[in-house]
Amino acid sequence: MNYVQNVLDSLKRLYPEQSTFLQAAEEVLMTLTPVLNARPEYAKHKILERIVEPEKTHLFRVEWVDDKGEIQVNRGYRIQYNSALGPYKGGLRFHPSVNVGILRFLGFEQIFKNALTGLSIGGGKGGSDFDPKGKSETEIMRFCNAFMTELFRYIGPTVDVPAGDIGVGGREVGYMYGTYKKLTGRYEGVLTGKNLLFGGSLARTEATGYGLVYFTERMLASCGKSLEGRTCAVSGSGNVATYCVEKLWQVGAKPVTVSDSNGFIYDPEGIDIALLKQVKEVERARLTRYAELRPGAKYTPVSEYPEGMNGVWAVPCDAAFPCATQNEVTGKAAQTLIANGCTCVAEGANMPSSLEAMRTFVESGINYGPAKAANAGGVATSQLEMAQNAGMVHWTFEEVDSKLKNIMYNIHDMTAATAKDFKAEGNLLLGANIAGFTQVADAMIAQGVN
Ligand code: NDP
Repeated sequence: MNYVQNVLDSLKRLYPEQSTFLQAAEEVLMTLTPVLNARPEYAKHKILERIVEPEKTHLFRVEWVDDKGEIQVNRGYRIQYNSALGPYKGGLRFHPSVNVGILRFLGFEQIFKNALTGLSIGGGKGGSDFDPKGKSETEIMRFCNAFMTELFRYIGPTVDVPAGDIGVGGREVGYMYGTYKKLTGRYEGVLTGKNLLFGGSLARTEATGYGLVYFTERMLASCGKSLEGRTCAVSGSGNVATYCVEKLWQVGAKPVTVSDSNGFIYDPEGIDIALLKQVKEVERARLTRYAELRPGAKYTPVSEYPEGMNGVWAVPCDAAFPCATQNEVTGKAAQTLIANGCTCVAEGANMPSSLEAMRTFVESGINYGPAKAANAGGVATSQLEMAQNAGMVHWTFEEVDSKLKNIMYNIHDMTAATAKDFKAEGNLLLGANIAGFTQVADAMIAQGVN
């Protein structure tokens, strides 16, 4: 316990401004005490002190010209956190809130998530404080070109393979891939989430949302429950949320909400998935457009949210799927969900629950699927894309989807078994952190000090 506290104290001294990273470090390290007690070699090899520091952090200037001919400057980052288990792997986020602290939180979580997949991938994360909202198609393309003009030096199919995240989807990956190819002259699997025409994998687009529901089904089945007939609250309306909603319908559940950063939709008939895709993926419009086109759906702007919480979590539901962003479920939201009868929370976004919310979920004994385990389907399928690229083969949608389902079931089972081994049955947060951590720590010890 002292060991954990000492490392956390030293991080607080070194990085006082990186609050989101400090939160992620606390979330992981506080659950590791049982394994650190059982395996004193981790302290001897200074695994905690080493694992919290990225192997490399690249920070670069991204300059580009907007449609008015004005020069714009953004900051670009790639954090190569840990390569004990394989090449760095993790998404790129384009959002004005991006900074080193946010990317360290995401990269740190990614190390353990990637370990849980059982595939050979290390952890990394990157992105820029570029805001894609309101930018024209050509501005997006010019920014992606400029970003890759620097990033290409640090990545490669056996070195570091970025993917998408908030603000980076198939379109952006395509533009970055084009620039990488032009700069290096190499046609290789250096990014995942690519278009099917140039090495993308079927089912990658759907993977995080589908995987989230597969994980949840397995978690519920282990207690004799299921999602069938359940009312579900989903937040977000991007890649993860959309395919979570789609899969929820497919397994017989009823998703009734989606959100964006301006407000949320409550659709008592259940979210119309075809309309959601039309609005978000084809028109690239906001959710107010969904409300315009869907009689019976109610749109609530952020200004009308209850104090201290996202309005989505005040909608009574049986199961909740936060799929937007970090810290979107506050302690108050967690208590409201439980008070309204919610008995299952599975996290599609990365660290969507505050530390207080996490504690509330764990202590309440509801079925709680933490992000690292529950949303690992995206990165797992990215690794399947890498495998197809390396073997120059294409698998069918059904092949990839069935591998994804197996991986999610395995992640659940390993996480649950680890929790049980450490006398915390049902605590998948502890199970996921310990199961991921031990694999990385053992690989680090075996590879020595370098
Ligand atoms: P998208 O950019 O496709 O969608 C993000 C969604 O979240 C949008 O609806 C967006 O609304 C909303 N959102 C973003 N920031 C905020 C905010 N500060 N407050 C309220 N709403 C917000 O991203 P993804 O769906 O890819 O990612 C969503 C989450 O899932 C992230 O936490 C990401 O790290 C995680 N994740 C993604 C994976 C993937 O494969 N894509 C894999 C594993 C995890 P708006 O349009 O208004 O910004």
